[in-house]
Amino acid sequence: MSARKPLIAGNWKMFKTVPEAVAFAQELKTAVAGVDGVEIAVCPPFTALVPVAEALRGTGIAVGAQDVHWEESGAFTGEVSPLMLKDAGCSYVIIGHSERRQLFGETDEKVNRKVRAALAHGLTPIMCVGETLEEREAGVTEEVVRRQAESGLAGLTPEQAGGLVIAYEPVWAIGTGKTASEQDAQQMIGFIRGLVRDLYGAGAAGAMRIQYGGSVKPENAAGLMAQPDIDGALVGGASLEVKSFVEIIKAAC
Ligand code: PGA
Repeated sequence: MSARKPLIAGNWKMFKTVPEAVAFAQELKTAVAGVDGVEIAVCPPFTALVPVAEALRGTGIAVGAQDVHWEESGAFTGEVSPLMLKDAGCSYVIIGHSERRQLFGETDEKVNRKVRAALAHGLTPIMCVGETLEEREAGVTEEVVRRQAESGLAGLTPEQAGGLVIAYEPVWAIGTGKTASEQDAQQMIGFIRGLVRDLYGAGAAGAMRIQYGGSVKPENAAGLMAQPDIDGALVGGASLEVKSFVEIIKAAC
């Protein structure tokens, strides 16, 4: 057993109005009262960050955003800065999710700028990496994940690297109902930890939490969470209902 505390984070994507988000937060608060040994975070859309953070204040349940810009302020229409996320009550921010990489032109370079800006403002990045189906079939999974991880972490100190969270999310497993096997997920997450060790040393590699993401459900969560290198999950679809999210949280304790 490692000393790392698993993190179960819910990525709500573009779902939930403010009333729905607040009702969820209130229900979640009651449902996880007394749950120990796991850290919990929810990542609502920008519009619901402030009311959800207020509803969860004092509970230990963290709030994260789903993206961030790297500048602190300025003429960047449509963007939200790390300073604003801190101000809204966030402690985490998802960076480089595959939907942003695939649909919104997020490059490794932008991911790295966002990671560094988030850390500079005291936010913990949940940096997503993962291969597409084509890449897996072409046998370049490790190459792709190595490139994403190395460029995403570029320029960090070992302390900063050890403090962030990486989510390994094979793109073919996201929202498809197809989960990576426990062995495949462990193998890739072990590979990422090895990379971090080579780049930043054993301290950073031992401290960094690396999650699995991609069709995590109550039925497969316990098996995945039992793997030695898997420190929690980034959950999409199953995080939208309190019942399934709480079952996954309990599987990680
Ligand atoms: P999923 O999404 O759990 O719905 O597959 C995971 C994610 O996109 O983070």
